[in-house]
Amino acid sequence: MTFSDLALCAPVKEAVQAAGYTTPTPIQQQAIPMVLAGHDVFACAQTGTGKTAAFALPILTKLHNDPSKKREPSVVVLAPTRELAAQIGESFLTYGKRVRARYLTVYGGVSINPQIHALRKGVDVVIATPGRLIDLIDQRAVRLDHVHTLVLDEADRMMDMGFMPQIKRIIERIPKERQTLFFSATIPEEIRSLAESILRTPTHIAVAPVSSTAERVEQRRYLVSKTDKRKLLRHLLETEISSQVLVFARTKRGADRIAEDLEKAEIRAVALHGDKTQAARERALRSFKDGRVRVLIATDIASRGIDISQLPVVVNYDLPDSPETYVHRIGRTGRAGFEGAALTFFTPEEHRDVRDIENLIQQRIPLVQEHPFNPGPSSPTSDAAPRPQRQGDKPHQHRAPSREKSRRGRPQGHRR
Ligand code: AMP
Repeated sequence: MTFSDLALCAPVKEAVQAAGYTTPTPIQQQAIPMVLAGHDVFACAQTGTGKTAAFALPILTKLHNDPSKKREPSVVVLAPTRELAAQIGESFLTYGKRVRARYLTVYGGVSINPQIHALRKGVDVVIATPGRLIDLIDQRAVRLDHVHTLVLDEADRMMDMGFMPQIKRIIERIPKERQTLFFSATIPEEIRSLAESILRTPTHIAVAPVSSTAERVEQRRYLVSKTDKRKLLRHLLETEISSQVLVFARTKRGADRIAEDLEKAEIRAVALHGDKTQAARERALRSFKDGRVRVLIATDIASRGIDISQLPVVVNYDLPDSPETYVHRIGRTGRAGFEGAALTFFTPEEHRDVRDIENLIQQRIPLVQEHPFNPGPSSPTSDAAPRPQRQGDKPHQHRAPSREKSRRGRPQGHRR
């Protein structure tokens, strides 16, 4: 199938071509005809599957085919974070460059007044985080009575972030006669029941079920003591990993410390987290995207919605707080058919958490035995497989060798 097989309008097809896309991704192949036919859609799809275009392209085609414009928006897209909202907004601008429609992205953390002014001028598509949209509704800056299409993107994330009450309030203000497109990476029970309550005989689409990201991404795990994590990260960046890396840290302070430590080792690194101003976050992201910074260290919240295509390596410096978050994290790599790698650090106390992740993804994550900071054999219950030992191989290495020594003493590592 090619994009010309889909009933998209000419301006959208041209934009898709200009973006360099040749083949619609599976979610696009399935969702676009359904959206064009007016069906509600319930899609289980992760970031990286091309889900944004799956809803944006047919919505833009519908806007193009129906040029009657009102001052009030006819399409509302809800997204959990400002980064994701901004990225969706950019997608509408890119794909809808030649469509006569007005797009506006609104999110919190920035002044509301310019958003109110922009709304006054009239918009067709509003892309919003739920909290800010509620603020705008409360200030009577926007009315949703003409909305005919509602998109919920990353519904599970919005729920995790506590946006459920806001989402419900927003939906109450949108006419029942509408088309609703519901996207979620995971389908826990609350998400299923929310979907059931707001969708009308939806078409179900499931691409890339949770495990398939895990299948696409090469995963490895490293047993390391908490105090050696920094050294291990540096070691990997100096030996094995030659590309840009997204590193996940549990806390904002932790993220800052990792960035400082890498900078000291003359590895360009920047931390991205919620304590930074919006401008600082955008700067950090830009410098990473431009390639000026090699390592981006993010907390889970800050990382949501970051759109960096073809990110080759993700490092879980700290384990995520839930197995589902692991899947979200490693979904940052291995996008659009691109093979990525996810390296996970875990401490001797965290075998159980690793096992929980492995149970969710239904696969064992290979353990890298040979690295200079391996604290020794892992607990007998979890990594029962004997460590392969070669002649002369020391059973365990308690002390971390110096950087020089480790560099000289090791081959170029564990590349595939
Ligand atoms: P998304 O899942 O919407 O975040 O999209 C993931 C990435 O895939 C984005 O960087 C898109 O630009 C890209 N993309 C979307 N659709 C296609 C396509 N049909 N062919 C190639 N790349 C695509």
